[in-house]
Amino acid sequence: MAMIKISHDKCTLCGTCIKECPFDAIEIKDDKLYINENCTLCGLCVKVCPEGALEKEEKAAPRTDLNHYRGIWFFAESREGKLTPVAFEMLSGALKLKESLGEEVSGVVIGSGTEGFAAELGSRGADKVYIIDDESLAHFQEEAYALAMAGLIEKYLPSIVIAGATMMGRAFIPSVAAMVRTGLTADCTGIDIDPGTRLLLQTRPTFGGNLMARIVCRNHRPQMSTIRPKIFDEAPVSRDSKAEVVNEPFDPSAVKNRVEFCGRQKVENMVDLQESEVIVSGGRGMKEPKNFALIKELADALGGAVGASRAAVDAGWMPYPHQVGQTGKTVKPKIYIACGISGAIQHLAGMQTSDYIIAINKDPEAPIFRVANLGIVGDVFEILPALTRKIKEKNS
Ligand SMILES: Cc1cc2nc3c(=O)[nH]c(=O)nc-3n(C[C@H](O)[C@H](O)[C@H](O)COP(=O)(O)OP(=O)(O)OC[C@H]3O[C@@H](n4cnc5c(N)ncnc54)[C@H](O)[C@@H]3O)c2cc1C
Repeated sequence: MAMIKISHDKCTLCGTCIKECPFDAIEIKDDKLYINENCTLCGLCVKVCPEGALEKEEKAAPRTDLNHYRGIWFFAESREGKLTPVAFEMLSGALKLKESLGEEVSGVVIGSGTEGFAAELGSRGADKVYIIDDESLAHFQEEAYALAMAGLIEKYLPSIVIAGATMMGRAFIPSVAAMVRTGLTADCTGIDIDPGTRLLLQTRPTFGGNLMARIVCRNHRPQMSTIRPKIFDEAPVSRDSKAEVVNEPFDPSAVKNRVEFCGRQKVENMVDLQESEVIVSGGRGMKEPKNFALIKELADALGGAVGASRAAVDAGWMPYPHQVGQTGKTVKPKIYIACGISGAIQHLAGMQTSDYIIAINKDPEAPIFRVANLGIVGDVFEILPALTRKIKEKNS
């Protein structure tokens, strides 16, 4: 950790550093120099100060004894008394790491009314399940969940902790990483073990998706990642054997909650692309925003959701939550229907693991046909209404 240290006895408040700072990070308050949160530690102020009153202080972070940490943990997310699909996806990811690392796989359950969760996770391959079950944890709240998870990590010292990059995972896992003083690679699209170093390789898009970065956490433990849903298949029920269960108590009075749970409200028309079994997506080939009505009609007839390529989203035809691809959502529905989408690599990155892909495109050379199970070469404006009509006839 580094910081800019100010020697107030040397500082004459000449203002040189304030003028030179490119980030407006230096101010004078109550006749004293003050560095605010805009500081990026670039060090320019240190160089320009004529009095030598500023110094960049590097504090070596305490090095963790890595040998004490063992085991692969996944957060088994649950909602309304049920484990969510992402819990089984994370278990699948953890089991994949176990193949290379050979260490025990443990699930972490936090909530209330969690009976049966351990058995379910055990039958899908978890060796152990840590359970913190308390009435105060019935509804997700960041502070409480972070405290519960951080307490477990500090007590049992896992080497790796993964969680879904869901709304819940994104909300509290960064606090956990900060509490246990380690790093976090957020929103990964892949994880693996480096065979040489046995470190966790965490892959995620960077620079707006133009590069894929591989990140390792060398000096701190645990190695922590949140991983996008639908990257892994759900771990299937594979055995009768049970997971070892470790029940841990929780003290709600230790939580300084800044949020009070008042109730749950269902948001109408919320896009739940990642949970949909059928997705009908439109691209630039739909020509105009109003033509997305054709996509919606087919999606409704199939009980599915509407997706879009980035070109359609960038054109303002569909809102961003509908975007599928490298910088949108990763989806894995049973049926994905791509309409007027060329199949650029960044779009394929978000949908090519769908179970069955149908592509409608007037260009027989469109790259989308390389991943499609069924390709229809033709005009979307003829094919979509005909398809919807047929499906409606079948439904009636
Ligand atoms: C860093 C980065 C990140 C990106 N992230 C994403 C992402 O997350 N998701 C994403 O989708 N893209 C992403 N892109 C953009 C991607 O490269 C493509 O530009 C985009 O996917 C193209 O969208 P499209 O297929 O709708 O449009 P186009 O490539 O223009 O394709 C339109 C298709 O429609 C067909 N067509 C036209 N008229 C008809 C018709 N009447 N009937 C049938 N077919 C017709 C055409 O033959 C053509 O194949 C990203 C790009 C970059 C650089």
